[in-house]
Amino acid sequence: MRIVLMGPPGAGKGTQARRLAESTGMKHLSTGDILRAEVAHGTELGLLAKGFMDKGDYVPDEHIIAMIQKYINDPDGVLLDGFPRTVVQAEALDETLEKSGTPIDKVVHLSVDVNELVKRLAGRAVCKGCQTPYNLESDPPKESGVCDHCGGSVEVRVDDQPEAVKNRMKVYQELTAPVLDYYRSRGDVIEIIATGTPDSVFEELTQAIGSGEQSN
Ligand code: AMP
Repeated sequence: MRIVLMGPPGAGKGTQARRLAESTGMKHLSTGDILRAEVAHGTELGLLAKGFMDKGDYVPDEHIIAMIQKYINDPDGVLLDGFPRTVVQAEALDETLEKSGTPIDKVVHLSVDVNELVKRLAGRAVCKGCQTPYNLESDPPKESGVCDHCGGSVEVRVDDQPEAVKNRMKVYQELTAPVLDYYRSRGDVIEIIATGTPDSVFEELTQAIGSGEQSN
């Protein structure tokens, strides 16, 4: 299966994709996580990407499209989180999957209103080791600054600072909202209002994916 999870920054894509990967055995493919690992390892791509990421801008399409190629045909199936983010990326994805004969099965859109998104991102922190997300107010790690899962350091991302968040929202509207229209024009977007608890959203998500119900 190939599932694309879409939604603005803070909608819960990472949290839901992680849980879905655990319960289905599919690979969670987060371009943000891959890029952060490249930055941490100081690779050529990481050095290039960091400047864009810190400001909340997108890394240029050609680098993202080249990067994703080696992961996309995983035999366990993939949950795409944070890709495609532009229409050029969506077209490249279609082309790649057409060649391998494994088209996208579902596109899911997690929507959350903008005030809630800003609130969520203000409290968000992430483990630098395993990328587990936390909310410092509503869902903090048991020991302050230490990941419950891997003992790594839990920190606020540079791009979750207010200025970068503002830019990420703007870039999302400009470049990623059209990707939703691209998929909607083919009639295959599952809409989920993702304002509930992580558990309730997960339940809705698994049902929608399992039953294939579509509501656009
Ligand atoms: P995320 O963890 O998905 O919020 O991604 C963090 C940052 O990584 C984004 O703000 C972008 O700078 C970069 N990034 C992740 N995925 C992509 C993508 N598909 N295209 C361009 N840039 C991306």
